[in-house]
Amino acid sequence: MPTATAPADPLATPVARLPGVGPERAFQLDRLELRTVGDLLLHRPRRHEDRRQFRPIAQLEKGEAALTRGRIVAQGVKRFARGRTSVFEIILDDGSARLHCRWWNLPFMERYFAVGDDVLVFGKPLSLRPRTMDHPETEVVVNDAEGQLHLNRIVPVYPLTEGLPQRWMRGLLWRVTHNFAAGVPEPQPTPPGLPSRADAIRLLHLPERLEDIEIARQRLALDEFVELQLAMQKRRRAWEARATALPCSGTNLLMRSFLERLPFKLTTAQTKVLREIRADLGARHPMRRLLQGDVGAGKTVVAACAALMAIESGRSVALMDPTDILAEQHYSTFRRWLEPLGIEVHLLTGSRKTTSNRKTKPSQPQSPPLFIGTHALLEENFAPENLGLVIIDEQHKFGVAQRERLLRKGRYPHLLVMTATPIPRTLGLTLYGDLDVSVIDQLPAGRGRLRTHVRTADTVPKVITFIREQLAQGRQAYVVYPRVDDEKLAAGVKAVTVETEKLRTALAPFRVGALHGRLKAAEKESVMAAFRANELQVLVTTTVIEVGVDVANATVMLIENAEQFGLAQLHQLRGRIGRGTHDSHCILLSNADTPEAHERLKVLAETNDGFKVAEADLLLRGPGELLGRDQSGLPNLRFGDLARDLALVEQARALASQCIATPTPV
Ligand code: ADP
Ligand code: MG
Repeated sequence: MPTATAPADPLATPVARLPGVGPERAFQLDRLELRTVGDLLLHRPRRHEDRRQFRPIAQLEKGEAALTRGRIVAQGVKRFARGRTSVFEIILDDGSARLHCRWWNLPFMERYFAVGDDVLVFGKPLSLRPRTMDHPETEVVVNDAEGQLHLNRIVPVYPLTEGLPQRWMRGLLWRVTHNFAAGVPEPQPTPPGLPSRADAIRLLHLPERLEDIEIARQRLALDEFVELQLAMQKRRRAWEARATALPCSGTNLLMRSFLERLPFKLTTAQTKVLREIRADLGARHPMRRLLQGDVGAGKTVVAACAALMAIESGRSVALMDPTDILAEQHYSTFRRWLEPLGIEVHLLTGSRKTTSNRKTKPSQPQSPPLFIGTHALLEENFAPENLGLVIIDEQHKFGVAQRERLLRKGRYPHLLVMTATPIPRTLGLTLYGDLDVSVIDQLPAGRGRLRTHVRTADTVPKVITFIREQLAQGRQAYVVYPRVDDEKLAAGVKAVTVETEKLRTALAPFRVGALHGRLKAAEKESVMAAFRANELQVLVTTTVIEVGVDVANATVMLIENAEQFGLAQLHQLRGRIGRGTHDSHCILLSNADTPEAHERLKVLAETNDGFKVAEADLLLRGPGELLGRDQSGLPNLRFGDLARDLALVEQARALASQCIATPTPV
């Protein structure tokens, strides 16, 4: 137990010290992670209710959430199905009409109400004849000393936990705000036009005008963003202070012959990005750069050029990929590109370690090697000599911690992270604010058109005919089934297996193969190799091919149950086609019966621009879904909204830079 003296910081006062908070209540608050006064002050209301006026019951609209008020004229519990189902109902009357409020299978609700009670109700009527709401939020009006706190004003409604009444919580927050909000310190100089943090907290819990609520949210969100930006900028500063870069900008000795042998010319965008990278690799501090480029923009060859620069400068390079399939693909591409230049390429995945033994080789002077691998590169036994450059492909599939871990394999190596998920700016600044950004904003010329079609499942026979036509012209196709969740893995694999059999029959004599996460690495590799060699014309698969896979002759992608994917993910998937000179077609089959789901998919039919797709996805599904559940770098924000707060994030970035530039006392 801590000592009984009050802590120096009033905000650190444990909740149990507050008048009216006994052990039972303290325990309940703890379940909400509310342990100190400071925690309480930041307990964000779920919503606010304007209790200065109520919607008369007669004016309630079906399906529209509204606040109303009435007296209980009758109440009771009914049971059905031999007592297994029950419904508790109260009937309210406000003089204009009656309202039935029902709770299913919560018979104990009866205890909280009595005929004659004056009750506030918030909910959506599900019908108007009779006027009925199921499971509305309610609060019985009590005319005690605190009564005015809960009526005739804008009232916060807080998240609760079992046993905690809303009225009690509101009373507590009211007292705590009055007694402690003034003591909330200002984390940085208050920007003009904004309330102080203390005022924002007061407005959050005791708003006088409806506008106050958003003003308070924005101010508190700004503080959250400033904190994140400060942490990022400090991390970068510390890194720069400690780290002197290894010169890695190369000699051009290998580069020239590499570019000459390449079967294509770099695009203007690729060249521009390479110039930025070369400047970084020769600068005083190690490079920390994010390379963004839409699917198929040609990031791999840029990575190869960066690797060459480091290798020319006598440093080894590590390239990390999120999947075995992608690592294998890169291994074969980079061997094709770099081995003729006398550069060794090694592959390290969970299942395979392909390392030629240099010690037994003749002692001719050799270039340092390139290591390609998956998470296996993070393991301890991977200890490259003289690591000059770390490249991480599909960066959004890794967390910041993994990135740092790979960097620690060298002495401040340069870092290039790449991503095809176009990150909307708000997210980019928040997740990658410590990185410089290069963008490949141009696709290589001569690509065929990629069109996306949204179809309902009953068109499958037509789609199959279409695929046959494409195969007959020598093209190849992917057929994709929804992401297989761990717990549903078996079912998902079955779907792939069963559908593969069906497609074999439907598409004979074309050859159909199956590829999914449950296959052993060697099997995956041989299926992928067969598809690449066009020994298989059709690949039935899951999202294992989502990132990176590059087979230019594949021009058709059929995605089943497309409504189950996020837009950004579908965009990534369709990025597997449209990589050659032939026109490509992505067909999204959806059984979604809601117009919203259909509208959502139509975004893809309307644009091939990954940024637009990502923006739409961010708004529709939020940052967690956009980045995928593998993303571990997402901050926990209470007030900030990464989908909408771009202006605040930018302001926070500027404020953080100011703070760092002018070290203030305190
Ligand atoms: P991503 O940016 O999605 O990683 P890749 O690097 O896999 O894209 O490139 C897609 C395809 O485009 C590859 O087959 C690659 O060889 C090819 N490519 C890259 N740059 C060019 C270019 N400048 N001209 C023509 N083809 C290119
Ligand atoms: Mg790629």
